[in-house]
Amino acid sequence: MFNALVMEKDEATGKAAPVVKQISESDLPEGEVTVAVDYSTVNYKDGLCLSSHGGGLVRTYPHVPGIDFAGTVEASSDARYTPGDKVVLTGWRVGEAHWGGYAQKAHVRADWLVPLPDGLSTRQAMAVGTAGLTAMLSVMALEDHGLASGHGPVLVTGAAGGVGSVATAILAQLGHQVAAVTGRPESADYLTGLGATQIVAREELNETVKRPLESENWAGCVDAVGGAMLARVLGQMKYGASVAAVGLAGGANLPATVIPFLLRGVNLLGIDSVMQPYDNRLRAWQRIATDLPMDKLEAMVRPATLGDLPQLGADILAGQVQGRVVVDVN
Ligand code: NDP
Repeated sequence: MFNALVMEKDEATGKAAPVVKQISESDLPEGEVTVAVDYSTVNYKDGLCLSSHGGGLVRTYPHVPGIDFAGTVEASSDARYTPGDKVVLTGWRVGEAHWGGYAQKAHVRADWLVPLPDGLSTRQAMAVGTAGLTAMLSVMALEDHGLASGHGPVLVTGAAGGVGSVATAILAQLGHQVAAVTGRPESADYLTGLGATQIVAREELNETVKRPLESENWAGCVDAVGGAMLARVLGQMKYGASVAAVGLAGGANLPATVIPFLLRGVNLLGIDSVMQPYDNRLRAWQRIATDLPMDKLEAMVRPATLGDLPQLGADILAGQVQGRVVVDVN
């Protein structure tokens, strides 16, 4: 028997609620690889899966959430993995459609795993998690479209959140000036500690577009917010610059005009971490091991246990989690 956080549905009310309880390996779904989970984390999507309605992501109950985990292979029927291998899992709808990382053991498909890169512990991998992986995928996409240090400031929206914190630290490490947008003025010291050179108040950017083109301010952007802020930012990009659209913390609508694309050659790059092909995942994890300073990563971490998850799920949906949560499931 081992510990898990299980979402159980009350048939009378139709609402799901979290219970930390003991389950056995026979309760787990089928999977080619058994992983002894060391750590998991809390992403925005985890907040949805921990809510009473499952955020439209969870369809069947009982359910074990946790869209990310890192741990050690215990058994494998797939030749790519042998007991003792350190692995990390993000995406593939694990923790949503499949049971995830909020348990001491998980059964998963071998295709979903990535070997942990040298130099990264399972705890550090979960300090990174989907949020950090997505930040790195964004930086890689901006570089693939021409971003290099010296081009000017790179904007990071939702900067004190998970994606934004990791993006800020990576971009600063790569030699970029980073302008960090935050709605929490009290996060300014935290963000400059991660390497931000400029703090931009959220209110400066969340007004709807009045003029389709403004001053050319930004050489690149990692956008975790979407909505009116993304629309506004498109009109402030330098000629030929790119925005990596990652998230929708501020809304899913895009009340923009096409003028920045037509007159300034601005690129809007979509970033998806969930179905990201294996080779690019591997490249991103390896880049994380080399380009994300581990002291900065540690400064983002807030430790937690399975019992803390219901509150943390509500907090992240309310935009109240700073940096990255690392959940020790053991
Ligand atoms: P967090 O909650 O940790 O960060 C989001 C941040 O956005 C908040 O910390 C806050 O930053 C800012 N924010 C929140 N609400 C608003 C608002 N109404 N208007 C403007 N800014 C707001 O979440 P994550 O970093 O984990 O995820 C960020 C987004 O990226 C989410 O929408 C998530 O679903 C998405 N995502 C997408 C992935 C993909 O594959 N495309 C993968 C991972 C995440 P501050 O306090 O600094 O203003």
